[in-house]
Amino acid sequence: MSGTSDWSLEILSERVARGRFHSVLLDFDGTISLVREGWQQIMKPYFREVLAAAPRAEDAQGIAVCVDDFVDYLTGKQTIYQCIRLAEEVTARGGTPEDPFAYKDEYHRRLLVRIQHRLDGLADGSLDPADHVVPGSFELLQGLRDRGATVYIASGTDEEYVLREAELLGVVPYCNGGIYGARKDYRLFSKKMVVESILTTHGLRGEELLGFGDGYVEIENVKEVGGFACGVASDEEHRRGVDAWKRNRLIQAGADIIVPDYAETARLLDYLFPRR
Ligand SMILES: [Mg+2]
Repeated sequence: MSGTSDWSLEILSERVARGRFHSVLLDFDGTISLVREGWQQIMKPYFREVLAAAPRAEDAQGIAVCVDDFVDYLTGKQTIYQCIRLAEEVTARGGTPEDPFAYKDEYHRRLLVRIQHRLDGLADGSLDPADHVVPGSFELLQGLRDRGATVYIASGTDEEYVLREAELLGVVPYCNGGIYGARKDYRLFSKKMVVESILTTHGLRGEELLGFGDGYVEIENVKEVGGFACGVASDEEHRRGVDAWKRNRLIQAGADIIVPDYAETARLLDYLFPRR
């Protein structure tokens, strides 16, 4: 197989405990699944359109900067938070916002137009799940299970979609800890709550938790409790190499290591679970 020559494991902090991981928490979109690849190109133009219609909207460039900032900043949290912020920005420009849930529905309707062929192709078998995950995902999940870890997925995407897409990709059997996503009542779920529940349920110390994510939120949540955080700077479009923007964000969030994907599964697992 070609395409692994630009693989790198970037070590940012050497002194964090490794190897004693009991539980592993993975983000879904961009960390395992690429089914929703390109969602930003749907959300951002739509949000710009909404803001531009407000009475005191600034010029197109000002609006673009505003939307880029808050969409990026809130990535990893539940989608509704981006929509709540959009409503606030409409109000700030003298407009009367819609219900944030209406913004979320419309965004999702537009996103489905882009990704429906992927869902259909995975469902009817014409598309290969291996082409719609971060490279090496299945091997990583299997390797984690082989080492006795309890594997969880937590996503800011609505739980019904995460479950469906996890099933289409065939990752459900690896997740013996469960798969969690956003609820209608957005106060009932957060990645932070999943982290806390994992530690409490198993009586774990922070260093027994390993997290994987391509976004700020999950890395921060894992580091807050003293876990080990693997930042996944995945280039979702090309499926190889490091996405520089993600890498910067992951470093700021406190990631202990950065990888572009899991193509070199054995090297990554050997680092995470050093042989004594
Ligand atoms: Mg993600």
